[in-house]
Amino acid sequence: MGSSWRWHLSRTMRLAMRWCRGPQRGGGCGGNRPWISGRCFEVFVCLVILLTTSVVVIIYLFVLPTILSTYPLYMIVWHLCYGHWLLVMVVFHYYKATTTAAGSPPKEKTQIPAVSICKKCITPKPPRTHHCSICNQCVLKMDHHCPWLNNCVGHFNHRYFLSFCLYTTLGCVYCSISSKDMFLDAYNTIERYYQTPPPTEPYVESTAHKSIIFLWVLTSSVSVALGALSLWHMILISRGETSVERHINHKETRRLRDIGKVFKNPYHHGTMNNWKLLLGVEKRSHWFTRVLLPSSHPPNGDGILWEFSFSRRDPMAI
Ligand SMILES: [Zn+2]
Ligand SMILES: [Zn+2]
Repeated sequence: MGSSWRWHLSRTMRLAMRWCRGPQRGGGCGGNRPWISGRCFEVFVCLVILLTTSVVVIIYLFVLPTILSTYPLYMIVWHLCYGHWLLVMVVFHYYKATTTAAGSPPKEKTQIPAVSICKKCITPKPPRTHHCSICNQCVLKMDHHCPWLNNCVGHFNHRYFLSFCLYTTLGCVYCSISSKDMFLDAYNTIERYYQTPPPTEPYVESTAHKSIIFLWVLTSSVSVALGALSLWHMILISRGETSVERHINHKETRRLRDIGKVFKNPYHHGTMNNWKLLLGVEKRSHWFTRVLLPSSHPPNGDGILWEFSFSRRDPMAI
């Protein structure tokens, strides 16, 4: 009897592991990813899609009719244009960030500028490349592995990731502010409901109140959390660093300070230039066509060759 429950437990765990691992992905180094990057992380993607859809449905069903019936014409036009522009930008950048591969060093080309050899892939590692243990492959200009995208953030999708964070924060702030009055009304009504005797309320009205409260709490919380994350990434971009390099550079700064030297980040080209490089802005009109509108333009460079902001004799962060 004792061994029977252990057998059932072990079988259940094996089945759960197999489910989590999902279908095996083929294709060389990084093809077979560990189980944690399979369906476990796809759950996060489904959660993002589900929550975004629920917010959009609540806005269309309950917030937009109130705006259309009570606001003046110029405010209606502004809400329709601004709200839909944010929706398009969020959906576009999320789709691109999840479906665009961050990029990995070529395996066949051996003549690439490598700073070390990856012990796991046994291939040369170009500058700014790091090994992702979740994707099980080297990633060009790796920033981090994002469970909300089920993808690594690196050279080819860094801009999509940042734009998604910024536009989602803007979208949540917009929803939170737009529904604030409706939220206060709904909150007061629901509070009255718990008095004795509770007031009678039609089902549709009760659903609307609960939905508005859900919308406001969700968008306000995401505004704060994602706003803080976006701000952190904006600081890193302004310094010409990725999240991985932040730790390496911090250690290097302290090490050099102890021996009386000053650390300089070789990929810091000045705040504005760092932003232009990330966003792919080469002329003034690109701020509109490539930043404020959906754009699929590739990033600057191939992620293998990097321009340094000073001579290679200086200390480097690699
Ligand atoms: Zn590797
Ligand atoms: Zn990864």
